[in-house]
Amino acid sequence: MRGGALGRLLHVDLGSRTARVEEPSDALYRNFLGGRGLAGALLRPHLSCPWDDPDLPLVILTGPLAGTMAPASGRAIIASKSPLTSTFLDSAAGGSLAASVKRAGFDGIVIRGAADGLVGLRLEDGNAVFEDARHLAGSTIGETYIAVLGENPAEHPAFAAVGSAGEQGAAFASIGVDRHHMAGRGGLGAVMGAKNLKWLTVRGTGTVPVADEEALLKAREAILRLTAASPVLRGQFGFSNYGTAALFDLTHSRRMTPTDNFRRTWFDRGEGLSAPALKKRYASHSAGCEGCPVECLQIAATPLDGETDWALPEFESLSHFTALVGNHDPDEAARANRRCVALGLDPVSAAVTLATRREIAGRDFAPGEMVVLLDDIVTGRGEGELLRLGAYRCAEAMGQPEAAMTVKGLELPAYDPRGAYGLALGSAVATRGGCHLRANTISHEILRKPVATDRFSFAGKARMVKLAEDAIAAADCLGVCTYMFLTAGLEEYAAALAAVSGEPWGQGELLRVGERVVYQERCMLLEASCGPEQDDLPERFFIEPGSETETQPMPAIDREAFLEARSAYYAVRGLDGRGNPIPDRAAALGLECSTSTPLV
Ligand code: SF4
Repeated sequence: MRGGALGRLLHVDLGSRTARVEEPSDALYRNFLGGRGLAGALLRPHLSCPWDDPDLPLVILTGPLAGTMAPASGRAIIASKSPLTSTFLDSAAGGSLAASVKRAGFDGIVIRGAADGLVGLRLEDGNAVFEDARHLAGSTIGETYIAVLGENPAEHPAFAAVGSAGEQGAAFASIGVDRHHMAGRGGLGAVMGAKNLKWLTVRGTGTVPVADEEALLKAREAILRLTAASPVLRGQFGFSNYGTAALFDLTHSRRMTPTDNFRRTWFDRGEGLSAPALKKRYASHSAGCEGCPVECLQIAATPLDGETDWALPEFESLSHFTALVGNHDPDEAARANRRCVALGLDPVSAAVTLATRREIAGRDFAPGEMVVLLDDIVTGRGEGELLRLGAYRCAEAMGQPEAAMTVKGLELPAYDPRGAYGLALGSAVATRGGCHLRANTISHEILRKPVATDRFSFAGKARMVKLAEDAIAAADCLGVCTYMFLTAGLEEYAAALAAVSGEPWGQGELLRVGERVVYQERCMLLEASCGPEQDDLPERFFIEPGSETETQPMPAIDREAFLEARSAYYAVRGLDGRGNPIPDRAAALGLECSTSTPLV
């Protein structure tokens, strides 16, 4: 039983410029399927390496549905050790990377070593060719794309690259994928840059085997039916029409938009900062990842500073480059986002770091200043020397660590935790740090689907977070976009997996994989000496209320109620009272974990 995997990984050693094929055990696939779970299992023995150690692997993994007709199943999971959180971190990227790796005959690529100068790597059906890339030093991701593939290639391989931020080791450097996608979070671009790997292309000409084509078609139709009926994904005001910026309107109406570095929760946006206004202003059209019926990206036709065909900021960057940093100009937000994409910086971490600096300095940004500071972050010039460390280390160095809105060193995304308590708990205990996507409770608490729940109460949230974490971990192993779970469920994707693999997968089995994956990550946190004090939110959320009105209270979160909910989460997750894994529970899930002897 291999869960639809091909059973082959390609290992690339940049130091010796060689590649070899490994066939991992069936047990590894049975336990982790692919994607995030497999990434964790492969990386765990190496996480004692510093993030810039050549021996530390950078992995690009697919899920078992990649390259098939299962909708939105082509997310590539890129993972390594994060320069921000100092432990395992995975980041999903859309585009065509996962499907191409699969068609090349592999479930993933494991990259180790470091080249002696900047290189590119061309993979064609498993044939690895290394090319000198020193002439591309300092080039943007877009420039690299054109240099490697040409201006408008009619047919092109999957592409991934770092910008100068990755080359220069900025702690929140990202990896650009194809033209408009990104593995943004956690600084994986710095890991790729430390290996001197500037770019990578993958072309695969094979087909992905499917055990039962008819059953897969049925599963696909069920998922497409649910997607078509989803207001948030395909409705008039949903992602398909307006991109994820539609969420900006939603968080605004719930008064939970992080504003002024999370000191307020409501931002007076004026006329120009709604999803419909942005679509009109930039005459944008929809685009998306390979095989996705939603297409949540918005590509602008209106030139900005002479450039057309640029991607509008997604929800997180739009919200953070406006409300969080006190900017009302959509063009400024678009420019900052675009500069992040070009340099290869995570826009979420970049905006939170800039907001931290704005709060500590007590000074607003002048027009154009954010873009200048983003360039300084890459070069380390002036204030960039501190800013490039990320919000936490930057605030700490400036003597005000309390101004850093981070969890475990990772900057928080664009939902204020005071506006939804499941989100607050989920963000605090998230294994990768400040991330709402580890337990996307927003669907219950804000979209009120599939089960509505009181967003201002911790009642039942521990179990809700645990179940949501398991489901999302399973989706990340399958390589399915988590947005699909705003409408479809694991049941539909289990049917797709059963069809691809010819094995009897059901929702229960997938949840079990998800539970194992999260527990494995808790083991990795323990091994990185990350204790319960890290399963916490910045103090601000417990002592300062949000932007309240008479009809819409937004109090500070009750600390005692939060701690009680966190203890309840530990219990339901099978952790001890300090949030650490219990060896017997780990063994029951097929994992090794000792609280007394960390595995390294
Ligand atoms: S919903 Fe958006 S991010 Fe998800 S697969 Fe589709 S286009 Fe990609």
